Formats: sequence, C-alpha cells, structure tokens
Amino acid sequence: MKTLFSVALLAWCAGGQPARDYPVKPVPFTAVHFHDAFWAPRIETNRTITIPFAFEKEEETGRVDNFLRAGAALRGETLTNKKPPGYPFDDSDVYKVIEGASYALTVQPDPKLEAYVDGLIAKIAAAQERDGYLYTTRSIDPQHPHPWAGTKRWELEKVDSHELYDLGHLYEAAAAHYQATGKRTLLDIALKSAGLLENTFGPDKAAIWPGHQIIEMGLAKLYRATGEQGYVSLAKFMLDVRGPDGTQGAGRTYNQSHVKVVDQTEAVGHAVRATYMYSGMADVAALTGDTAYVHAIDRIWENVAAKKLYITGGIGARAAGEAFGDNYELPNMTAYNETCAAVGNDYWNHRLFLLHGDARYIDVMERTLYNGLISGVSLDGKSFFYPNPLESNGQHERSPWFGVACCPGNITRFLASVPGYVYAERGDALYVNLFVESTGEIKLDNGRKVKMEQETRYPWDGDVKMRVTPDQAARLTIHVRIPGWARNEPVPSELYKYADKITEQPKLKVNGKPVPLTLDKGYVALDRTWKAGDTIELNLPMPVRRVVADNAVAADRGRVALQRGPLVYAAEWTDNPGGKVRNLMLPDNARLTAEFRPDLLKGVTVVKSSAVAFVTADAAGNVHRTEQDFTAIPYYAWANRGRGQMLVWIPNSAASAKPLTYPTVATTAKIAVSGNSRRNPKNINDGEDPASSDDASAYFDWWPVKDSKEWVEMTFEKAATVSEAQLYWFDDTGHGGVRVPAEWKLLYREGEQWKPVENASAYGVERNQYNRVTFKPVNTTALRLELTEQKEYSAGIQEWKVQ
Ligand SMILES: [Zn+2]
Repeated sequence: MKTLFSVALLAWCAGGQPARDYPVKPVPFTAVHFHDAFWAPRIETNRTITIPFAFEKEEETGRVDNFLRAGAALRGETLTNKKPPGYPFDDSDVYKVIEGASYALTVQPDPKLEAYVDGLIAKIAAAQERDGYLYTTRSIDPQHPHPWAGTKRWELEKVDSHELYDLGHLYEAAAAHYQATGKRTLLDIALKSAGLLENTFGPDKAAIWPGHQIIEMGLAKLYRATGEQGYVSLAKFMLDVRGPDGTQGAGRTYNQSHVKVVDQTEAVGHAVRATYMYSGMADVAALTGDTAYVHAIDRIWENVAAKKLYITGGIGARAAGEAFGDNYELPNMTAYNETCAAVGNDYWNHRLFLLHGDARYIDVMERTLYNGLISGVSLDGKSFFYPNPLESNGQHERSPWFGVACCPGNITRFLASVPGYVYAERGDALYVNLFVESTGEIKLDNGRKVKMEQETRYPWDGDVKMRVTPDQAARLTIHVRIPGWARNEPVPSELYKYADKITEQPKLKVNGKPVPLTLDKGYVALDRTWKAGDTIELNLPMPVRRVVADNAVAADRGRVALQRGPLVYAAEWTDNPGGKVRNLMLPDNARLTAEFRPDLLKGVTVVKSSAVAFVTADAAGNVHRTEQDFTAIPYYAWANRGRGQMLVWIPNSAASAKPLTYPTVATTAKIAVSGNSRRNPKNINDGEDPASSDDASAYFDWWPVKDSKEWVEMTFEKAATVSEAQLYWFDDTGHGGVRVPAEWKLLYREGEQWKPVENASAYGVERNQYNRVTFKPVNTTALRLELTEQKEYSAGIQEWKVQ
C-alpha cells in the first residue's frame, strides 16, 4: 500500500530540490491510529455504515446509473432509460464517497469495499469522452442535458453547470484512491480530464473560472500526486481570472466573483463555494509563494472569526443563497450553517495553520469539528443535517438523504480523515494540535522518527498524557497546543467571551516536572533532547463555562451559551421537565455541574443546573415562574431522539425568556394540511407571533407546489363556539416563490359536512400583519381554510388564531 509520504516525495522539482509547499506539513492520517471512545467508534460507524449507506443511496437515486447511461450513449447504444438526468452536480456525490471509501481502505483493508469501488471506477471510465471530458448529464443526451448544463461545454460554467465542480471532486477522489490503493485507475481518468482542461483553459485560451469552486484544491492534489507543475499553474489561472469580467454569472458575491480574489476582504456569498475557494488559494499560495493570496485570505479570516462565526463553529447564516450574512448577522433558529460549509471551514483553517503555524486556526478548526460539523450526521450514521441551526421549535429533523446530496458525501470523506488533523511537523519541530487517545508513528522532515502515544478521555476530560519515543535520543521541539478555550479565549476574536474568568490554569509537565506556560502562537514549545519513555502531561481544567456574544449579535443578547472543554452545549426538549426549553431562563448564579452519562447518546457528559420555567397561566397573559431541573447535552448529539425544542443560547434574564403560551382553542387543536409539504404543519398553530411575513423561523408552506388549491383543517379538542379567525400569511417576496394567496375562505364542520361560515367580513391578504375575519358564531368541532394560490406562486401560513 502506498502511503502519503511516498506520494508527497513525487512532488520534487527536476533539480532534486524539494518543491515549495506548506511550511508546516500535516502528519497524514495513515500515520495516526485512534483507539479512543469518542472518534474511533465514529470513524468505524462512518466506514461500516455511512459509506455503504451512501453508496446504496447513490445507486437507488440513479447517480451511479448516470455513469452507465453516459457510457452506453458514448458507445452509440440506444438508451432504454429515458429519465432526464438529475442535477448537473450529481456526479460529484459519487466521487466524494469514493474519496471517503479510499481513506477508509487505507486504514482498514476491506476487499468487498475495494472491489465495489473498482466497479464504480470502471463505470466512470466508460462515461469519459475520448478527449477526457466527463460530465454525465451532457454525455447521456447532448441534445437535452439538464437546463443548467448549457447547450455546449463550459457555456454555463460560471453560472450553474458545475462541470468543473464535479471534476474538482473527481481529482480529490482520484488522489485519495491512488494513495490508498496504489492503483492508477481513477488517477488516470483524472489526469486525462486535467489534460483536457490544460488544453482548453489558460492564457491565450478560454478564460473560464468555476461557478462552484473546488477544482483549485483538486488540481493541487493532482500536482502533489504527480509533480506536474502545470496543474498548479492552471489552478492559479482560474483564481486570477475570476472576477467581474462582464460575462454571464460573473460579478456576483454569490460565487465570489464580485471583485478579483486578491482584492476580497470580507466573507460573502455561498459559504461552501467561499471556503473551498479560500482553501484553494491557500494551496496555490503554498505551492507558488504568492503572498497576495495569503493577505486576502488572512483578511477574510479576520472578518469571519470576528463577525461571522457561530459559537458552534458553523458558518453561512442565511438560507437564501446558502450564504454568509452581514457582519454579526447570526440568527439561531434560521441559522443555515450547512454541514458542507463546516467541512469547508475546517479545510480552510487547517490550511491557514499550515501556512502560519499558529494555533488560533486550530482553535476554530477544533470548535467546528466537535460541534457544528459532526452535528451533521446522526449517532447511528444513517441520517444527516443539511442546515445546522442553533435553536429549534421542533421543525428540524435529520434526513436519510437529500435531493441535493452534497452533505452526506462530505461527512464520509471528512470523518475518515480526522486522524490527519492531530499532528503536524516542520523540520525538527512537531506540533500536537488535537488530543485523542491514539498512537502516531511520525516521520519528521529531518529524517527522524518519533512515536507519540496519547492517553486521554478528551473531550470528556482535560488530562492528556503523552509518551514520546524517538528512534534515538534527539533534539526536537514539541509544540503543545494550549487551546484558546482553556485560556479564557473561546474564539480568537472579540466575538465571544466567557462570562466568568477562571483562575485554575492549564498545567504542563515533562517527566513529572512542571513547565512554565510560555505561549508562542498558542503553543508551549518544549525544546529539549527527547529520549524513549519521556512523558508530557497536560492538564486542561474543564469547568462548565458561560459564553456571551458581542452585543452586536442581536440574536444572542440577554443569553448565554454553555461550553465545557471544546464542546458547546444545547438544551433539548427530551431532557427537561415539561418537554420544552424555549421558555427557560438560566440565572447567572445557578450552579453548573458536569456528569458523565455512559448510557446516554453513546456516552456524553451532560451539564446539570436549575432553571426557571416561564408559563403563561391564564388567558389574561399572567406569567408564572417555576424552578425546575435543567439538563444540557453536547450540541452535536441533538436531534437523535425525535423532534422537539432545542436551544443553544439560553436566556439569562426574564426579559429575553419566551413564556410558554396559554393554551387556546387553536394551539390545542390538531392540524391537517393538503399535499405533502416537508414543513411541519404544527407551525401553523404553535401560538408564536411571527416578526414578519418572511420570518423564516417557524412557518408552513406548500412550496414548491404552485397554482393550486390547498386546504388546512383545524380540529378542536372539543366542540367550541368560534366567531373570529386571524391569519398571518407567510410570504417571502424578494428571495422566494411564496406569496399571500389569491383568495381564501373559511368553512366549519357540521356533522360530516363542511359549510361556509356566514356573514364573514373581508378575507384579508395583507403581508406582515394578522388578517382578522369575523363571522356569525358557530359551535363546531373543526374549521377548514381553503385557499387558492396566486398564479406562478406557492402559498404559506405563519400563524392561524381562532376565537
Ligand atoms: Zn452540503
């Protein structure tokens, strides 16, 4: 089996000098073996459940079949399957899981999985056109590809064709598969494709850049696998020509082409595209020495760390455009935080660390990894989150798959490679970045070998014992990271702070003797002659801490988040009395304790305290407060026990708490709706007043069904006399396709029949307010609302009240 080392050695210049690359080099995941209770079982679940499950879904949804159909079409066969091709980026999902499977194969031989991957690669090879072009949606039926594909090659690349996006993932998978198996099958497909790109794009050729980035990182990987400098030049070319060039798709923040990449200062637009681009810029900068790229991504990083980073490490606040929000725009319930963006954030931060050797990037990477990234997959490895919100009213639920299935594939490839983020090296220096019970066999740049063994229960416990075994006694600097969270600095910016200051400091000992904590770029540098059996003991105190956000973050005002070690906590419905958490307040003086629960959620440390619950006690709105037990679980583990409320930012003042509403005839009713929308109908009568018609926190709509007649039925607990209804319509004018209805009316149930209410006042369709309708009182067990959608639009409801 080939290791990453031998592949890295290929990247030498012809003159025998080592090629330019990152000054700090990652220690590959193949050199580090986990045997801990946190990551090892997750990585095993990824290998044995998630990866086969994702392949199964790709077969089931026709993604694999697309390669077969493209192959058949290229051989001139008539296709029996006339189904129009799926999304133009579906090919990438297959490549991503091949990448994940390749990493898994490197660690654990699995002949069955390897044979399956070989079979897939044969199908991919057959779908590649003679000149190297590979894009199933066009090859299946060049006359009728997906509309986003354009009528000819690359025509809509800057808009939405995703031709280069697919190829970027192909190259990443090809490099991984070659490294894992030593087989050239997928690499040869990738190199043939890259040859076509070199012939097509470049100075004096087509100046096309990718609408969705990743080809830059992919080309860097092909370069490292082959030593072919042209791939780096092509990646740099595609970054340099990106910008407002007057062509279709250009000049938009959405795909980061609003200004030249070196002139960008703020993280904007689609968050996954952005982080893939910043990662590609880091790669090209490392490989070429280009400092303008480094300055740009440093500035953008400062912007994200200080103004656009969730406490969970998630990024990309807005669903519209899957995009970064404005500075400090970090809403909780509607937080988008795509799982892929968390993966991209970690790729980017790790690369910045490799450029600068500074632990603050690892601080962000670790925060994302332990919180907003692994929240993207369920504990059983079979369902996924696309967005990762920080608050829920029960409308969120993981899904086994998605029509746009980018996130599951990203989980498979990232989890398989986590051991590669623990160590790094530079000359005779070794960096210890993450703490995981593991054994690492590390080969340093200077030819020395060091075995590193970590004993720890991290992230549940902050004691880490490391045994250092160099191949012979040798001078070596071991940089031990002292995480920001353990130094009263939750993030490397002013965005979040601990509400308290702890006096108990981290402690470090070498061979039992205390070492002063002198920090350089977040590390204690232990420079000495190391011999076999030397030990490093690190103690990171892990009290439960309250975190507060910069006052500029409106959504977090009057609230605290809980953190213990690297983990951010969430209060979830099922652990708290009454099954609700959004009506709770955690007083600042409430004592916080931690307790390990081996039986819960595959073993977690929970945070216990006492909270105040606010409940509206009568129709007049009087609010009662009662003290009750409070339990929070690690954020990553939420949504594994059914739908219900969840809260990361917990009110610490009565003013910001949200009392449970007083039950009304509407809120206690059962709701049934027409159609099969994936939105939760319970949002229609949850008793919560929306902020506006496009408030995205808790609404119901029939999207994407347009031009239709729809209905909602509200069945009361028992017969009631009603004479008034109030409708607050959902309407996302400006960024969506849902509008107030063209018309609507109310009916009531009499026996088995629905009858129109009588003497109804006007059925209003005003936005951003309740539309009140009164009618002749009826005693009934149910009301029915019938509506007609506007032409070309869908319809939706924020809230329906009845009196
Ligand atoms: Zn995704």
